Amino acid sequence: MVRGKLNGRGNIMLPNETEIHELEDNESYRYLGVMEADDIKQSEMKAKIKKEYIHRLMKVLKSKLTAGNLIAAINTWAVSFYRYRAGIIQWTKAELQQLDRRTRKLMTMHKGLHPRSDVDRVYVERDQGGRGLMSVEETVNYESHSLKKYTEGSPVEFIRTAGKIINTNSEDGRQEYRNHQKTERKQNWHDKPINGQHLRQTEDQAAKETWQWMKRGCLKRETESLIIAAQDQALRTNYRKAKIEKSTNNPKCRLCKQKDETVSHIVIECSKIAQTKYKGWHDKVASAVQWSICKKHELPHTAKWYDHRAEAVLENEKVTLLWDFNVQTDKMEAGDKHHSFYARLSEFTGK
Ligand SMILES: [Zn+2]
Repeated sequence: MVRGKLNGRGNIMLPNETEIHELEDNESYRYLGVMEADDIKQSEMKAKIKKEYIHRLMKVLKSKLTAGNLIAAINTWAVSFYRYRAGIIQWTKAELQQLDRRTRKLMTMHKGLHPRSDVDRVYVERDQGGRGLMSVEETVNYESHSLKKYTEGSPVEFIRTAGKIINTNSEDGRQEYRNHQKTERKQNWHDKPINGQHLRQTEDQAAKETWQWMKRGCLKRETESLIIAAQDQALRTNYRKAKIEKSTNNPKCRLCKQKDETVSHIVIECSKIAQTKYKGWHDKVASAVQWSICKKHELPHTAKWYDHRAEAVLENEKVTLLWDFNVQTDKMEAGDKHHSFYARLSEFTGK
């Protein structure tokens, strides 16, 4: 190690002519990015970290990233800023929770989160159906646990002693803390009578297929947060207004007036829109299927599936393809009446 010499003013001179002067009263120096004087400058550092975090968060929120990439960017670029100094800067629980609230609020202002959708779900992992955001509070606590574990296991007594000041805000070990947080978030979301409804109804297939679209995360953030809000029953349907907001007495559907106006009623069940909206959605999907069959059997088709307009009859030497066609089948039930099977799309091969 090269040592500097003291000059006439009592300052240290380094061999490259740099002069290191003594700290003035209000001055501090940086050690591994943390401002210190005779002690760590806690409040100054907190203000700086918070400012930089919000700055990074805003930059990401103003970008045009897709829903999945937006969350990934916040996690790796903004939340990580807290991670690096966890355990050194002593945050209170309230400070960290306030920051998570601020994050969600800013996401809402930038159309990335519906204001009434479930809070726990925001922090559940994407392959479990959540948004996959890392909570600042949980990240800091987890990292503090890691640092504490490292210092406790150190062979150097000085490091073990220094580790005693690390506050982890919980009695659990590091891995237990993380597992506990993960299970608790999911369970809270699951158990909520309204917000957890969709999760409970889809539990059987949830792990296998339901959350594929969340995992891919390629939707626009507005679209993703709207779908999530619908699943969380957070949209202002009559059912919600009557049962939660208590702003009306009538929970019934404003179209059919028969059943409760829940999101699932509107999406699949309402008799008043069965022949219009539902048929339209159905036909859109079916026309994509027809396009694939056309492609397979070399029938006329457009280059892109979404430009395809279904034709009533299409045929070549091998195949006849029918669209929206009534087919008479053998009787299905007792009696002489023939059962008419309404086939929207039938493929007959081997003419
Ligand atoms: Zn209805």
